[in-house]
Amino acid sequence: MPRPIQATIHTDALRHNLARVRQLAPDARVWSVVKANAYGHGLERVFEALRGSDGFALLDLEEASRLRALGWRGPILLLEGVFEPRDLEHCSRMSLWHVVHCNEQIDMLAAHKTHAPHRVFLKMNSGMNRLGFVPDAFRSAWQRLNALTQVDEISLMTHFSDAEGPHGIAAQLDRFENATRDLPGERSLCNSAAILRHMGGNAPRPLHSDWVRAGLMLYGAAPDFPQHGAHDWQLQPTMTLSTRLVALQDLRAGDTVGYGSSFTAPGAMRIGIAACGYADGYLRASTQAPVLVNGVRTVTVGRVSMDLLAVDLTPVPSAAMGSEVTLWGRASDGAQLAIDAVAQAGASIAYELMCGLAARVPVRVE
Ligand SMILES: *Cc1c(COP(=O)(O)O)cnc(C)c1O
Repeated sequence: MPRPIQATIHTDALRHNLARVRQLAPDARVWSVVKANAYGHGLERVFEALRGSDGFALLDLEEASRLRALGWRGPILLLEGVFEPRDLEHCSRMSLWHVVHCNEQIDMLAAHKTHAPHRVFLKMNSGMNRLGFVPDAFRSAWQRLNALTQVDEISLMTHFSDAEGPHGIAAQLDRFENATRDLPGERSLCNSAAILRHMGGNAPRPLHSDWVRAGLMLYGAAPDFPQHGAHDWQLQPTMTLSTRLVALQDLRAGDTVGYGSSFTAPGAMRIGIAACGYADGYLRASTQAPVLVNGVRTVTVGRVSMDLLAVDLTPVPSAAMGSEVTLWGRASDGAQLAIDAVAQAGASIAYELMCGLAARVPVRVE
């Protein structure tokens, strides 16, 4: 028998979550963001379920070419644009749309030879201070692009740093709107947090975005956890990580568990040893992380090691060798464990857990 760890990708949940994006942004076209191998899910595994998207957004030419190989002929957007002049040849060949966030990328375009002009998304740095032209430089960048025969339509975009938190998007939105007021072109503003919190019926200032860029919410996690959970946003988990108990230990008071003896049993208790560790993508920093055994919620105890972790079986007297352990996602009895809560117990976020699913974990699609 192979080692019992397994990830499962739930395509029904992907479809449901995409429908939620459409519900919240009914007038927008939807980029499904599939960078980082579809947030660790696997581009090929999510493609069919997300085929109803208007386009796919990602970073790597290699991933773009895998999408084309799957038969996708619609829009693909390179979210960071090109990194060297040769990349533009691939954009021409595969009809990729690309972000332009700096003058060097405009220089490369100006020197590029192409028959079909490129559709570009000109990015403004409205406050995040990672990529993009500051508002004062935005118009001249637009004019430079607009004068190039290599460039077709120019869309305008920015990215919010605080859409999921109390700081909000107002200041960035003001900067973007003021600097783009009289520029033509479609707008692309919203990531998942902005779609969930700032679009839809109850947003204080209804946001217009011709293209939304949905990432995390497609994968059924909540960008503003713990204020909201995926359930509050009516999103369904798209990834389950599960394994089985491969050993049981009956502890007496004072016995310790794992490397560094960081957990000491306060009294007699039974623990289970699950076949999952940090080499599978589970966070080593986790302490008392929630976990399901036979669908019953309990916690991890002691340090996570490379291949194994320990769980408290006190709430699960039925647990035995081979019992199902759900690290996140859906248990076979239907119980759910939010990946957001598991990430929080490891001082992280759902994004990191999904993207960090290790290559050695077998993945099933259902
Ligand atoms: C990753 C990314 C997104 C998607 O963000 P989520 O929070 O996962 O929805 C949107 N826009 C840009 C520019 C990104 O890099």
